[in-house]
Amino acid sequence: VTSRIAQLAPSQPFYTFEVFPPKTDAGLANLVDRVDRMSALDPTWMHVTWGAGGSTQERSLELSGAIQGMGLETCLHLTCTNLEEGVLERTLQRAKDLGVVNLLALRGDPPRGEEYWTASSDEFQHAIDLVRYIRKEYGNEFCIGVAGYPEGHADSADKLADIEHLYEKQEAGADFVVTQLFYDVEVFKKWYKACRDRGITIPILPGIMPIQNYLSFRRMTNLCGTHIPEDILSDLERIQHDDAAVKDYGVQLAVKMMRALFEHGIRGYHLCTLNLEKSVTRVLELLEWVEPGATRTRPAVQKALAANGA
Ligand code: FAD
Repeated sequence: VTSRIAQLAPSQPFYTFEVFPPKTDAGLANLVDRVDRMSALDPTWMHVTWGAGGSTQERSLELSGAIQGMGLETCLHLTCTNLEEGVLERTLQRAKDLGVVNLLALRGDPPRGEEYWTASSDEFQHAIDLVRYIRKEYGNEFCIGVAGYPEGHADSADKLADIEHLYEKQEAGADFVVTQLFYDVEVFKKWYKACRDRGITIPILPGIMPIQNYLSFRRMTNLCGTHIPEDILSDLERIQHDDAAVKDYGVQLAVKMMRALFEHGIRGYHLCTLNLEKSVTRVLELLEWVEPGATRTRPAVQKALAANGA
């Protein structure tokens, strides 16, 4: 595996950015430009999400290929359930051909309109089955991440069983964990300790999403059942109709959370960008992890642009 995660200094902060594939060609071109600008912030890699049931498979691969082509490393998300026959095999081969070295191996959510998740194949019931499959078919060619849930997964009766299943994913060959979004740092800290106490030793990257908009934040956190501390809720309610103030609050909150996590020994962070560059840029500038106004285009990006006649 030639993933950058293996080469990182344990004392230095590092971060990954998550983007999702846009629906249109124009949207894709727009996002590629943004990713180019984001690359100046030197993310360890860029996560590309995978639509439920493989609904974005082509677009996710296309976007991963475009990002790899800029000389940036990617991490392609992949779910193993509700997939049409052959999609998984083809996707893994294409990912390899595109030079993708990181995968986030997931189970997947219920198809739209269905409340509960049911396995559509005996072979793939849980994310661990995907981890095992990739290791069996591809050995160590991919660096594999898995999902973790500081507040527990909705399907789990108890948090300890959830941690046990995370431990099993590590034992099956997972290299790192990315967590579900959370806004209560204390909840994360307790869960993190419980993971380490159980023997989960691989890097755990907390999922951080700078809030961009009050209503979509409430919708998303209600849907996921995310716990929002009272003070954050009341701060946001006060400014909910002022979009710029909400965005600014989202940046300040992400900085506060990341500072607290850094003091707690966390070095790697997973930032959900919602395909927007401004908030993550400000967060990293305020943390002084990047130079203010970093607009340097990476040499590899310049080369790729030159090759395309740009
Ligand atoms: P699993 O690890 O299978 O866990 C699901 C539940 O089953 C948990 O309750 C767990 O405790 C339990 N469990 C696990 N293993 C076993 C076992 N062996 N036996 C019994 N019970 C078990 N979805 C998408 O469709 N596309 C994406 O791009 C995407 N990206 C995501 C990124 C992150 C960082 C996270 C946290 C989630 C993402 N998801 C995505 C959502 C994810 O697919 C759902 O949260 C899904 O419900 C669970 O996926 P998982 O990989 O955690 O599943």
